[in-house]
Amino acid sequence: MDYNKLAELLFPHITGSPEDIEARFPRRNLPEGAKVTRIAPSPTGFMHFGTLFPARIAERLAHQSDGVFYLRIEDTDSKREVKGAEKDIIETLAYYQIHFDEGALADEKEFGIYGPYRQSQRGEIYQTFAKQLVRERKAYPCFTTEEELEALHATDKKAEIKNKDWHNNPDTEKEEIKKLRNITYEEAEEQIKKGNPFVLRILSDGDNEKKTPFVDLIKGKLEVPENDEDFVLLKSDGIPTYHFAHAVDDHLMGTTHVIRGEEWLPSLAKHIMLFRYLNFKLPKYMHIAQLMKMEGNSKKKLSKRDNGAAVSDYRENGYPPVSVNEYVMTLLNSNFEEWRMANPDKSYLDFPFSIKKMSTSGALFDFDKLNDVSKNAISRMTADEVYEGVTEWADEYDKDFAELLETNPEYAKRILAMGRGGKKPRKDFAVWKDVKPYMSYFYDSLFEAEAEIPTQFAREDVKNIFTEFAANYDENDDNGVWFDKVKAISEKYGFASDMKEYKANPENFKGSVADVSMLLRIAVTGRTNSPDMHEIMRILGKERVLSRLEKAANAF
Ligand code: GLU
Repeated sequence: MDYNKLAELLFPHITGSPEDIEARFPRRNLPEGAKVTRIAPSPTGFMHFGTLFPARIAERLAHQSDGVFYLRIEDTDSKREVKGAEKDIIETLAYYQIHFDEGALADEKEFGIYGPYRQSQRGEIYQTFAKQLVRERKAYPCFTTEEELEALHATDKKAEIKNKDWHNNPDTEKEEIKKLRNITYEEAEEQIKKGNPFVLRILSDGDNEKKTPFVDLIKGKLEVPENDEDFVLLKSDGIPTYHFAHAVDDHLMGTTHVIRGEEWLPSLAKHIMLFRYLNFKLPKYMHIAQLMKMEGNSKKKLSKRDNGAAVSDYRENGYPPVSVNEYVMTLLNSNFEEWRMANPDKSYLDFPFSIKKMSTSGALFDFDKLNDVSKNAISRMTADEVYEGVTEWADEYDKDFAELLETNPEYAKRILAMGRGGKKPRKDFAVWKDVKPYMSYFYDSLFEAEAEIPTQFAREDVKNIFTEFAANYDENDDNGVWFDKVKAISEKYGFASDMKEYKANPENFKGSVADVSMLLRIAVTGRTNSPDMHEIMRILGKERVLSRLEKAANAF
């Protein structure tokens, strides 16, 4: 039978050849060893934390090797498409600085010469290759409806057509299936004339009992049973399935490494077959295990509904992008943390990411760890960076606070500069949400006493301490002079100024200089814990310090 004729009948509108298409997608001219990777999300839902993984791996592998990383939108399933999901993907990648060199941009735009980067716009390309497969008797149209297929497979319930049914197992040969696979030109013509739709199926030559050795970059050596299923390449509307689009696009776009979730591993046999049928070089594959979480004592897969799964939650809670990126790196490579300690000033992008250091089982997602990593990441920022991060976040999620910060940026930055720099910087916040409660006592509108003056001290003493301190307070005192004054006041009212002396004979004193400092701290900040009091008072300014002392003395 003339399969060229059949191809013409099925795809009369396709006039170009695969060679014409190949010419539109020249081989990439890259240095040896350069990797070409992509992230190929479907806009069927909002970004999941798990998506940041393959995206970051792909980005790192490409950019560490002077290669190319691109974004392709796999929008072939319009029924499952979620409004706004594509925009969310593009924005999220930008927010987490997962920069791609080519691909889809917001507002239907794109950049790069391997486009279109949206699969929905590549129909003609897929159909050109589909037509070629028909010519070569590697694919055939199937006019059977889903119901008819169900009926054919009433015994095994699977609406699949398999090579084995007629090829390797003549005993179980099914005439109907054989007929479907060997559709004649005349039969096809009749169906087309009737206006019946068809799906295009691959004509599998595989045997499920034979295995192909395969090396996955993470999972290592695998044995993949051959595909014996005549799976669908084009749906009845001419739109490709994931399998077909994957082979065509990753070939034309020059992908060298496919990094994707392990849920695609069972489809690998189909892809191996497709690349062979199309005479394309098979890329390298890396199947990433799903993220896990602890539930009680056992590990569970992190599902889309779990706390921590939606990427947008991180932004809303105020995790700076760099914290999330650093955390992703700790999950990706076991030696990242060690490297981070040795290189505190470098960007996480300077870390030599390696596939070999990845765990083969799913990484464990853990909020405590994320918070820890985030505290460290924020502690390495300058006060200006913290100010910018927190204001940007507050602009979106806490307008009043943003306004407060923006009324006097210098004041806010001085607060945020406390305990920054040096070998042991303060680690007060994991998220921008923590900043407001941390600095609230610097703003009269937010100030609220969280701690009370302990009742163990005599009212008279406390009042005297506050009044005396206020009378002697000089904003220009340096830390040493300031503390000497606190000590002098302590002595005067029967509190030990020397901690050693106090510890040796506590019964000789009403308390110690530590207690006096604590009383001042509670009066001025309303809490028992704070950074350096001398610095806090300088930032607050004399007027506010004195008024708080006075208020505290009267309230006690
Ligand atoms: N569109 C597929 C998905 O979202 C992409 C898988 C791949 O990277 O090849 O799962």
